[in-house]
Amino acid sequence: MNDTPDTSFVPELDARQRAMLAEMGVRVWAPKPAPAKAPAVVAPEPAPVAAPAPVPAPPAQPRAASPVATLDWPELREAVASCQACGLCQGRTNTVFGVGDEQTDWMVVGEAPGENEDLQGEPFVGAAGQLLDNMLKAVGRSRSGQGAQGAYIANVLKCRPPANRNPQPDEVAQCEPYLARQVALIKPKVIVAMGRFAVQALLKTSEPIGRLRGQVHHYEGVPVIVTYHPAYLLRTPTDKGKAWADLCLAMAQLPA
Ligand code: URA
Repeated sequence: MNDTPDTSFVPELDARQRAMLAEMGVRVWAPKPAPAKAPAVVAPEPAPVAAPAPVPAPPAQPRAASPVATLDWPELREAVASCQACGLCQGRTNTVFGVGDEQTDWMVVGEAPGENEDLQGEPFVGAAGQLLDNMLKAVGRSRSGQGAQGAYIANVLKCRPPANRNPQPDEVAQCEPYLARQVALIKPKVIVAMGRFAVQALLKTSEPIGRLRGQVHHYEGVPVIVTYHPAYLLRTPTDKGKAWADLCLAMAQLPA
């Protein structure tokens, strides 16, 4: 099997994007010119990998109105900072609210804070965060950028699970209104859901990422693109080309 990522879906790569793809570990040989206005080609399904059995998503429930749903930004920050809705509050150093321009059109949703994020109070500040920043840079975005150069990054959980264990369904259920309110306030034009737990929380499905990639899903009317978590990509760099295809699909959701 040829493991060279197919980048022929990339309409044009400028020097900056090539450099950033190199940072992501995506090798670019000779991109073919794509047909004008062609939608991003879906990368082939990844070969099935031995993975733990997917945790079933909690059954879809009609969304009850949450008092969080009416909060403004300062109120929402305060609600998260003082949250004691689940046991994770006992082990946290800091809550991890989110970072980025609140007026941007591009939102990234990850899983939960790890040790570094818990210490610094900011999402994706470890090795996976470095890769995420490079991925964003490849599409002209950054956590410090504004508007069309920006990106807002938030997690499903605002507190670190002990020893970085997987989020539990009750923790996700308690924390979900905060993410929902962040989405409602930002009103992004696209959400990139990174990893299984982001996907489960937003799309209420336990389908594997490989089956959900390459399609446009929706959360509260906002297009959602499913991709791999940067931590997974660090362990499986051969899938970085697929993540690049996913970012291209996300870009294609934005008005020209
Ligand atoms: N992984 C995540 O999903 N979020 C973070 O903030 C850090 C690592």
